[in-house]
Amino acid sequence: MSRMPIIAGNWKMHLTRRRAAALARAVAAAQGQADGRRCVVFPAFVHLEIVRRNLKGSNVQVGAQNCHEMKEGAFTGEISAPMLRDMGAQQVLVGHSERRHVFGETDARVAAKLAAVLANRMAAMVCVGETLEERESERTLEVLQRQIQALAGVLRAEHHGRFSVAYEPVWAIGTGRTATPRVAQEAHAAVRRLLAGILGAEMAARTPVLYGGSVKPGNADELLGQPDVDGLLVGGASLDIESFGPILAAAPSA
Ligand code: PEP
Repeated sequence: MSRMPIIAGNWKMHLTRRRAAALARAVAAAQGQADGRRCVVFPAFVHLEIVRRNLKGSNVQVGAQNCHEMKEGAFTGEISAPMLRDMGAQQVLVGHSERRHVFGETDARVAAKLAAVLANRMAAMVCVGETLEERESERTLEVLQRQIQALAGVLRAEHHGRFSVAYEPVWAIGTGRTATPRVAQEAHAAVRRLLAGILGAEMAARTPVLYGGSVKPGNADELLGQPDVDGLLVGGASLDIESFGPILAAAPSA
């Protein structure tokens, strides 16, 4: 089953409006008219509008890094899925490891956010992955199973095309330590088996599973060469077109 590769940039809490706009233009130029790969960038909420405008005319999508699960209410400082949709966001990252581990988001909360994103007709990229301690105590599979099973009540076949998973081992995020292609492939195959358990084999085979964790120009090729690695979610190296451009180019353009 061939799945179109997706290269995604998570800009986290970085950049100014001006730099975000310039980076958006550079990403749009690097993506060019490529129709063999997808590209999406996740700027900070306050840069969504300007990034969207600077991507206009390209096929690069813009997404948000998080959302609140309720549609409105007394939740000071939060942003809802309908607000994101209204801003032109096409995707939302859900359950990024920094949300889970720094801000204490539970599996149930991640599932509620996924439901909000899908209900608002945007695509969701759900992040899963184990910590170093969990890997070292051989609990990787158990963690992935728990995180994916938590989505079971939300996902349905009709969501196909608006749902992807990013396997991001927490020990590889922002640490410079990348999973070897073999470790990534093993985890991706496990993610796909777990997805098959809730969505059926056919939809699981069609669901993109991206790898994230210290991706750089030097390791993008090898990771993308794994049969179950359908794309890359890039943090640090997505902030600069000198590094993001070559990562994007590692995915076939036609
Ligand atoms: C991320 O933020 O999703 C990520 C993978 O970060 P980095 O590439 O910096 O490890």
